[in-house]
Amino acid sequence: MIPIKSPAEIEKMRHAGAISAIVLDEVCRHVAAGVSTADLDDLTRDAMRRHGAESTTLGFRSEKRIFPGHGCFSINDEIVHGLPSKKKILAEGDIISIDLAMRVDGFVGDNTRTLTVGTVRAEVLHLIAVTQKALEAGINAAVSGNHVGHISAAIQRLADENGFGVVRELVGHGIGREMHEEPAVPNYGIAGYGPELRPGMTLAIEPMFTLGVPKIVVDPDGWTIRTADGKWSAHCEHTVLITDNLPEVLTLLKN
Ligand code: MG
Repeated sequence: MIPIKSPAEIEKMRHAGAISAIVLDEVCRHVAAGVSTADLDDLTRDAMRRHGAESTTLGFRSEKRIFPGHGCFSINDEIVHGLPSKKKILAEGDIISIDLAMRVDGFVGDNTRTLTVGTVRAEVLHLIAVTQKALEAGINAAVSGNHVGHISAAIQRLADENGFGVVRELVGHGIGREMHEEPAVPNYGIAGYGPELRPGMTLAIEPMFTLGVPKIVVDPDGWTIRTADGKWSAHCEHTVLITDNLPEVLTLLKN
């Protein structure tokens, strides 16, 4: 059952999305060589407090583990769910994805950016640019009457055209009162398959592409997911509302 948000709920989703975008932007401004992911987590905690948001990743349970971060900070070959650590310090040439999900007045916004630290290899820049383009293609396909598979296929096409891997085990998702709602929004698939999109649905669309094979491994910490071949990956995400017309990106940063 895919929740359809009422007009009042949509207003709250807009608010949660706007705050999520502001918090992510504030944290991203601090990305630089010498900064640890624990520093970024502290900044995330402070920014969320300031804006009246509550992290939905902090305390998140999976099997018997409890996630310890206010956000996910994944460096280089780490794809998602990187834990904050004083030992993980950004260096020139690194990339980092910052994935922040937060609840504001009962509703959740979720967004991710992949950033560069100083000068980064050209192939990595290309990976990030294509992942961002795939997010935009997925958003453009998120229109009423289309199916989830239209989003998936639009995203996968960009990866295929550029020879990048598409992570299979991690997918986008419905979002609303909870961080994860139905439906799953895979980054691979066939246009026309999957649930039909209707106005009032809200989805977190989040392509994760890799320079090498898309196979993943989980670190001994039980959370950090990285590429099996050690090649780098990029991740971009927005929370999107399906409307009668064009999709509305709820986590777009407004100036
Ligand atoms: Mg998400």
